Amino acid sequence: MVVSKIALEEHFMHPDFVDYWANTRSNISPNLFGKVRSVLEDFGEQRLKQMDNIGVEKAILSLAGPGVQVEKITDVAVRKARQCNDFLAEKILDRRDRYGGFAHLAMQDPRKAADELERSVKDLGFYGALINGQTNGAYLDDDRFSVFWERASDLGVPIYIHPNNPPDVPYMFHNHPELWGPAWSWTVETGSHALRIIFSGLFDRFPNAKLVLGHMGETLPFQLWRFDSRWEISNRGDMQLDLPPSEYFKRNFWCTTAGVCSDEPLRCAIDAIGADRVMFSVDYPFEKPQDAGDWIEAAPLTEEEREMVCAGNAKALLGLNP
Ligand code: MN
Repeated sequence: MVVSKIALEEHFMHPDFVDYWANTRSNISPNLFGKVRSVLEDFGEQRLKQMDNIGVEKAILSLAGPGVQVEKITDVAVRKARQCNDFLAEKILDRRDRYGGFAHLAMQDPRKAADELERSVKDLGFYGALINGQTNGAYLDDDRFSVFWERASDLGVPIYIHPNNPPDVPYMFHNHPELWGPAWSWTVETGSHALRIIFSGLFDRFPNAKLVLGHMGETLPFQLWRFDSRWEISNRGDMQLDLPPSEYFKRNFWCTTAGVCSDEPLRCAIDAIGADRVMFSVDYPFEKPQDAGDWIEAAPLTEEEREMVCAGNAKALLGLNP
């Protein structure tokens, strides 16, 4: 008997957005890139069968990044983000029992991104947004995004921070293409992005903001104690937080298992931030659904924890009917 599941980091592609994906091609093998294109564009039997095989009752879909966040012309980015969301809404309209959506947003214009988030949630029935890291070098702790965080907090929806490349290639990755991308640099980038948000004090201003990280929290659950102990030493005295850094992580973040099918980091994440904060995901089609499904069914969890991780926590966060 397979445990019922909700999956939150599941991707699709729209033909008009393939070019934006081009800078991700440097991160993954040409062989894999060619194979996943048609899989990403399928919203029908192929995808549903993969979901059925492992008991995913509902998949929350998001554009395979970085999408319009790498568009140079802001007006074009704003218009195409809207186009992408309308496309997804139409694709999943008659399968709302099986599919949900995360909005694609043009973060070049934070106010319009906030407006599009609101439209996506209220008019299209989406569950939040998935943002692919930095936009033109701006991270989400920047003051310009206050308008966005205010709206997301008011709407009460989660913002999923998904990996993307940083604006430049740090020297430590030179001559090591295997480290540039999902094996390591995306973890560094996305974990650092989350830490920038925590240490900026954003959660003191927006205590109800909800963030989701994939890849079992991008290694951050492993490091929480050290953030608390070292922050006192590293702080130059001009930064103030109402709480220890780890408390924001436990209060404002959820993690998914997307792309990590391994017992030890799962136990670490649950023990560090709580069984109610870890949620099953596949990272379809970049991770094999069967591997993810088989793994979570056998992972060292109590049956109560397994039900929470597989579906209960996602239902609570997204406001789905239990
Ligand atoms: Mn992904």
